Amino acid sequence: MNQKTYKQMLLENLYTPYTHCQKCPLAKLGRTHVVFGQGNPDAHLMIIGEGPGRDEDIQGLPFVGRSGQLLNKILEAVNINRSEIFITNIVKCRPPNNRQPLPDEMNICKNLLLDNQIKIIRPSIICTLGATAIQGLLQKPVKITQLRGQQLRYNNILTIPTYHPAYILRNPKELSKFADDFSLIAEITQSLDDTK
Ligand code: SF4
Repeated sequence: MNQKTYKQMLLENLYTPYTHCQKCPLAKLGRTHVVFGQGNPDAHLMIIGEGPGRDEDIQGLPFVGRSGQLLNKILEAVNINRSEIFITNIVKCRPPNNRQPLPDEMNICKNLLLDNQIKIIRPSIICTLGATAIQGLLQKPVKITQLRGQQLRYNNILTIPTYHPAYILRNPKELSKFADDFSLIAEITQSLDDTK
């Protein structure tokens, strides 16, 4: 069995007990699907948002709505193939009315699922989208305007926070910074792909 198939099997085993997860309050707040994530289980790059929105909840897939379309465009612009990376969120169930996930919800879900996804996939780079995602990952308040584009470490994995595509849709003047961050991420990811 190759590494990709093995990791896919580990991910499926991880998800099975949580298909109808009731471990945090988001379970009872109107979610349709638990949106675990999508992509290459052996990816170098893992992208982490804050939580599923309406379209993601309906389809059971991450970043498929308007924000996802912008993410697809920026990935295409920097020559990152979406099918080669792994995309997920800090919380796997949609918060009602697209509110931000609460710290407790993020901590519970991250401990159950995200941290184990990271252990299985073992990405070389994590990119977080938006302030809530990096706060949820680091479990502390941070200012995304100060942290974006910086090279941090999470569990010794290179971690680059950037804006959430929904923020860019509302503030298109920030698109160039968002594009710069993805250019840096693409450069590092491609240098890792070349060493495969
Ligand atoms: S957000 Fe995570 S912990 Fe909460 S119910 Fe959904 S899968 Fe379970």
